[in-house]
Amino acid sequence: MADAAAAVSRPVTAPIQNAAPRRILLIAPHDSYRTAPFLAAAKTRGIEILIASEAKHSLVSAYADGLHLDLGDMQASLQTILREAQRRPFAAVLGSDDASTELAARAAAELGLPHNPTAAVHLARRKDLARARLAQAGVPVPRYWRIDLTRPLTSQIEDIRYPCVLKPVALAASRGVIRADNLDELTQAAARIQVLLAGAGLREAEEREAILVEEFIPGFEAAVEGLLTQGNLEILTIFDKPDPLDGPYFEETYYITPSRLDAPTQQVLRETITAACAAYGLREGPIHAECRINEQGVWILEVAARTIGGLCGRLLRFGTGTSLEELVLLHALGEHPEMNSETGGAGALMIPIPQAGILRRVEGVLAAGKVPYVDEVVIHVREGYELVPLPEGSSYLGFIFARAPSAAQAEAALRAAHACLRVVVMPLWKGEREQEAGRPPSTD
Ligand code: ADP
Ligand code: CA
Repeated sequence: MADAAAAVSRPVTAPIQNAAPRRILLIAPHDSYRTAPFLAAAKTRGIEILIASEAKHSLVSAYADGLHLDLGDMQASLQTILREAQRRPFAAVLGSDDASTELAARAAAELGLPHNPTAAVHLARRKDLARARLAQAGVPVPRYWRIDLTRPLTSQIEDIRYPCVLKPVALAASRGVIRADNLDELTQAAARIQVLLAGAGLREAEEREAILVEEFIPGFEAAVEGLLTQGNLEILTIFDKPDPLDGPYFEETYYITPSRLDAPTQQVLRETITAACAAYGLREGPIHAECRINEQGVWILEVAARTIGGLCGRLLRFGTGTSLEELVLLHALGEHPEMNSETGGAGALMIPIPQAGILRRVEGVLAAGKVPYVDEVVIHVREGYELVPLPEGSSYLGFIFARAPSAAQAEAALRAAHACLRVVVMPLWKGEREQEAGRPPSTD
């Protein structure tokens, strides 16, 4: 089975030897929801972790007491990191998010620590470049087109096939990812993404001015967490995404492990992701891959050089006693944890935002928490805050976690718990957001 327990019997081939202390630098945007799980993992494992971020004035001590960088200024940030490493060396430098993996790779390279080539990390972030590279390497990719938003649309979209999916080239969490079934929908989606890109704070003009369009790949979706050591990929877990993801927007909802895909399919999944990592040139540290599976085979949606987002890393701990973040930190130190081979199912539901508006309250949280096999219900949007659903928004209402004897029972528990929730939202005055954002009112 493709869960983290498999790692016990398959130690990574060449442990990284380091004379440096057990001290790790984690470069993280100040609002990263990956930082807290990494801090907790470091504490559990007695590893010293220093956070480098832009959050100089943060109220969170790990940020305030950490290194302060300007992620937009690569050179200055590198110098700050090198100075700190001279003062007290690091055993590894990691990037928590897409926004920091490139800097982490550069810093690790300068310090002579295991790292990914910067070009590989760049590819992993840029969906358009990644597609071109996979195609070049013979890894199956859907037909794709690139729209340059600085040029008239008409001449660029003539040969696009439908249904297709439009997406920004450098955003994440399904933000701005929209399915279009015909020319009309494509034109509307492109306009909507253009507005989103203008306000998304992207630094590179290329990232603000391009849309990737791909043929829609029907099928089942799975997410995979892995660890690379000198180019060798070890699969930690495969998450099934059991809800149909047919669009027009692609909310991440259920993540269930261990995977119920049959063994030959899991094998093709491993091989395809391994081929994609090799094509990008990724060699070291965590990867998070998403794939679609249908009669034609396994299709890579993306391979990112980081861990899965949110709190899902804890799902690995349910089965193995070790969270994903602990595994990543220990791996960076060249250490191999003891893991339980306990089997069982685990799952998370990223609670979808049901409608745009102001969150009044979430009812039924207690009842949801009492559903058998439900481990925890976390609502992390506070009352009074605005809820922005996909494709413009990028957050969830919260999470439900479940652990059960089997994957199917974990999934059923999550569905039952979700059914207990009633999200009370006060709609914004109709048309208010749309006018503000300069786009036509949505049809749903
Ligand atoms: P992001 O990095 O923002 O998550 P992805 O490229 O991973 O963007 O797309 C988000 C989701 O949109 C995917 O998980 C998948 O459900 C759907 N999706 C993206 N591209 C396609 C495609 N070509 N065919 C079908 N679904 C797609
Ligand atoms: Ca994705």
